Amino acid sequence: MRKLLLLTLLPLYLWADAHLFVFHRFDDTRHLSTNTSTQTLRAEFEYLKKNNYEVVSLERLHEALQKGEEISDKWVVLTIDDSFKSFYENGLPVFREYNYPFTLFVYVQATVDNYGDYMSWEQIKETSKYGEIGFHSYGHPHLVSLTDLKIYQDTKKGLDIMQKELGYKPKYYAYPYGEYDGRVRSQLELFSFDLIINQNAGAVDKQSDMHDLDRTALTGANNIKVKLRTRTMPTEWIYPKAWPEDGKITSIKATLSREVKKIEYYISGYGWKSASLKDGKLVAKVDKKLKMKRTRIFLKSGNRQSSIILVKP
Ligand SMILES: [Zn+2]
Repeated sequence: MRKLLLLTLLPLYLWADAHLFVFHRFDDTRHLSTNTSTQTLRAEFEYLKKNNYEVVSLERLHEALQKGEEISDKWVVLTIDDSFKSFYENGLPVFREYNYPFTLFVYVQATVDNYGDYMSWEQIKETSKYGEIGFHSYGHPHLVSLTDLKIYQDTKKGLDIMQKELGYKPKYYAYPYGEYDGRVRSQLELFSFDLIINQNAGAVDKQSDMHDLDRTALTGANNIKVKLRTRTMPTEWIYPKAWPEDGKITSIKATLSREVKKIEYYISGYGWKSASLKDGKLVAKVDKKLKMKRTRIFLKSGNRQSSIILVKP
């Protein structure tokens, strides 16, 4: 998502977009919805190589965002969530073969309590020779359902353990399940992470909010080519911004660039509808009881898109 600027005045073509992707499991056919076969992974890496994409580390992206540098259209950042053993065993060798940097987001409790499918501290340390290590919470909770204190405690506990095991605290946080709202964010911001990353399919440009970077999942078949076409759409969300108290929304309000005259919007469970904008202002009258406990609202104009996730506490 975007920092608040004078959005309506911004030309859309101004900035180039980098793409952040997230993987979970590799060659693990027990969990198809989060799995990527190494055959597909190789095909995706070959595509990046043949088309001159540059795989950069999160550290490099952070540096560019901090300095306000131009972000290359050819930049791709690769991340892996949950620290599954199948990454260590099947995915990592392919990353090493291509010499692609990555960030592994560790689910700390799974390693501490020795859950079968997850990496050990030794394996995480070995992995850190080839990529960066990020933090994916201690207990992988649904953060939106937790009190401020519980969010704080989960974060502190996980970071303290990582300090002890790895000798440092990671500078990047990825939300478990990609679920968050403004309240969750403000608790995490107490820990001064360099980057906080969501899972709202999208792209990143020089104006992107370092504490709300969009990241797209890559699972199943090879569709990286399509996902690389996604561009950012500067959006200031006005309403809704969090789960509405009565579970109903009566409108979607947002400010976009003045150049956007027409968009399609999507609410989970309700499909796509179109709406016209006036001077970059979107006011779509809807009258919907939210069906999904995790509801996504997407806005799309051509290959530009933005989205927000609403999670029932
Ligand atoms: Zn996760």
